[in-house]
Amino acid sequence: MSMRELVVLGTASQTPTRYRNHNGYLLRWDDEVLLFDPGEGSQRQMLHTGISATDLTRICVTHFHGDHCLGLPGMIQRLSLDRVPHPVAVHFPAAGAEYFARLRHASSFYETAELRVEPIDADGQRITLGLGTLEARRLRHPIETYGYRLVEPDGFRALPEKLSAYGITGPAVGELLRVGHLDVDGRRVTRDEVSVTRPGQRFAFVMDTALCDGVYALAELADLLVIESTFLESEAALAAEVGHLTAAQAARVATESGVRTLLLTHFSQRYADPRRFADEAREHFAGELVVAEDLMTVPVPPRRVASAG
Ligand SMILES: [Zn+2]
Repeated sequence: MSMRELVVLGTASQTPTRYRNHNGYLLRWDDEVLLFDPGEGSQRQMLHTGISATDLTRICVTHFHGDHCLGLPGMIQRLSLDRVPHPVAVHFPAAGAEYFARLRHASSFYETAELRVEPIDADGQRITLGLGTLEARRLRHPIETYGYRLVEPDGFRALPEKLSAYGITGPAVGELLRVGHLDVDGRRVTRDEVSVTRPGQRFAFVMDTALCDGVYALAELADLLVIESTFLESEAALAAEVGHLTAAQAARVATESGVRTLLLTHFSQRYADPRRFADEAREHFAGELVVAEDLMTVPVPPRRVASAG
């Protein structure tokens, strides 16, 4: 059984608090481990998660405000210190390439790890991965910011009783599912006759933005949406002014986009009681709701129900 889950390293915006580390998120998705927006302290937070630098395959940075990237120097040096044997891809807004170059070489170290630096320079840019497509969408924030989503294509799940009825076994099963049809004893068997659709899963990561089209594009039908809710509605005007979302806005996006599990995070330190985020979001979203805490693990919900043919 493959494992797909989010591990939260930190949940504070702007400055860490006694209870919240700076931002940072790990997405374990089968053989890939993606690190999103490592703020300060991410390396140490990782020690508590059972995931090591050697597990990392990809780093995605939404923008170069400190709470989303000041953990990069430590994480990048750690990859070399641990002699990570595989290349690690790094994505970030191309407009921030100078910041990335500085963070990458913030201090002296012996670089052995191979970073594949692949900046994002277009809204809707797609990167094809073995597990699906990573897509970046431009968000609305004072500096160039991209959110990300991971989209697994729909697949097919063979029905054993149908296969045996046609006498199809072994490698022929894979061929039938891949090609769409197979000739058996002079009769053409189609994929629809022996399988059901296996819906692909979607993960979306939306940080630091005012409400905009990109937010909806990313959230669409996400099984798990990680989204900033820096503020509450009482600060809605301030949120819009500085390019952030409120818990109510995030929850409405989730409802309108068919999201299944909604995870709120990136909280302003002005709010002492995190239940206020849950209370506000609950008025607008009826699905699975999580107000993130540091070091929690949140599973990607099981696949949507398969449909015939
Ligand atoms: Zn920011």
